[in-house]
Amino acid sequence: MSRSAHPAGPRHADVMTEGHYTAPPADLNALDEKVWARTVTRDEDGAITVGGIGATRLAEEFGTPAYFLDESDFRARCRAWADAFGPGADVFYAGKAFLSRAVVRWLQEEGLNLDVCSGGELTTALDAGMPAERIAFHGNNKTVAEIERAVTAGVGRIVLDSFQEIARVAHIAQRLGKRQRVQIRVTVGVEAHTHEFIATAHEDQKFGIALAGGQAAEAVRRALTLDGLELIGIHSHIGSQIFDMAGFEVSARRVVQLLAEVRDEHGVELPEIDLGGGLGIAYTSEDDPREPHEIAKALGDIVTRECEAAGLATPRISVEPGRAIVGPTAFTLYEVGTIKPLEGLRTYVSVDGGMSDNIRTALYDAEYTVVLASRTSDAEPMLARVVGKHCESGDIVVKDAFLPSDLAPGDLIAVPATGAYCRSMASNYNHALRPPVVAVRDGQARVIVRRETEEDLLRLDVG
Ligand SMILES: *Cc1c(COP(=O)(O)O)cnc(C)c1O
Repeated sequence: MSRSAHPAGPRHADVMTEGHYTAPPADLNALDEKVWARTVTRDEDGAITVGGIGATRLAEEFGTPAYFLDESDFRARCRAWADAFGPGADVFYAGKAFLSRAVVRWLQEEGLNLDVCSGGELTTALDAGMPAERIAFHGNNKTVAEIERAVTAGVGRIVLDSFQEIARVAHIAQRLGKRQRVQIRVTVGVEAHTHEFIATAHEDQKFGIALAGGQAAEAVRRALTLDGLELIGIHSHIGSQIFDMAGFEVSARRVVQLLAEVRDEHGVELPEIDLGGGLGIAYTSEDDPREPHEIAKALGDIVTRECEAAGLATPRISVEPGRAIVGPTAFTLYEVGTIKPLEGLRTYVSVDGGMSDNIRTALYDAEYTVVLASRTSDAEPMLARVVGKHCESGDIVVKDAFLPSDLAPGDLIAVPATGAYCRSMASNYNHALRPPVVAVRDGQARVIVRRETEEDLLRLDVG
């Protein structure tokens, strides 16, 4: 990397060994539409706005840190997925990305189904009125109590994850006098992340039942003989933040191969396949996610082609996007506190949240961008690291980003694309109060998950 590639000045050049950016963006005030929710823009005063409401007003009314979710963008993304896959397929929103009762109602109104993977998620879904038959229940270690609740509620499918669970769900369903619709989750020997996928010979992880060694075929054999189960299909989920469709291609091919084996052995054509979620979004300007219609076409073509080759009727396809729906719809707004320039390194910008509201950077080395949100600035770019207020040096929100060098305590900064796996993974580390989620739409802002209070903390601590 040449020093001249850094308009920010040579003093930054030596330290850009691990960061995302090689140079500051041409315009620090610009909002790349790829990473921001659709209604986000800057108003005349230079502050960013979402749904027509400015960041300064939002911060005054709801405090910081807080997640602001663009409701019309969320709904538009739901519709884009539903339209792309059409009536012949099913889109299940993966609730673990972010779930609340308002979200459940939006999903219903926009025609999506819902994946849950715990009793808490199931309760939220049912409480908000999601019809049980539109719910899929996932997880590698569902408890007996959770299975009983799911079967009793009449969920549309339980995705079976192990041999023990095949027996367990069959037994519970039979005891409750039900026949539970199920899919079997298989691992296809593909692990996909971002721009590449890795073919793995054996599956050294906790999810699913391996196709390799005939395990999945044996699982189908067992499920077909059990009265409590109605086996409707095969499920495969291959990774997260995936841009390259090649991993899905391998996955679909292997799942269809299993369907053909099942037909040959049992004379049964399983009617459904679920290709999971994991579709990537843009966290930074470098990311180029696929649009839902491209994904739908690619997956549909692969499955149709493989089924034709195997002489099978094309099964009904389902997909489970979580991040790709909610991720881009929200940003986190923080207030800047202490600013600490480290000469020759970078400037540490501390905010009033951190790893308790966004663990992804610490957990996965995730990339994020950040902008000054309460105003614009023409000051020189400054290489910054946005850190939280927690007692942990790994408490980093944005590893490397350029912010204007006139940044001052009290300024608001915003980190985009925090809709998925931020509030849902938030913690109370250091007794932090988990931030609210505020839905903004057409000039109206509404709290859908309120901020925790110190009273909430003390209520759990029963002395
Ligand atoms: C996590 C998960 C998803 C959603 O993943 P995203 O990356 O949010 O799209 C879908 N299906 C299953 C089984 C999952 O575990």
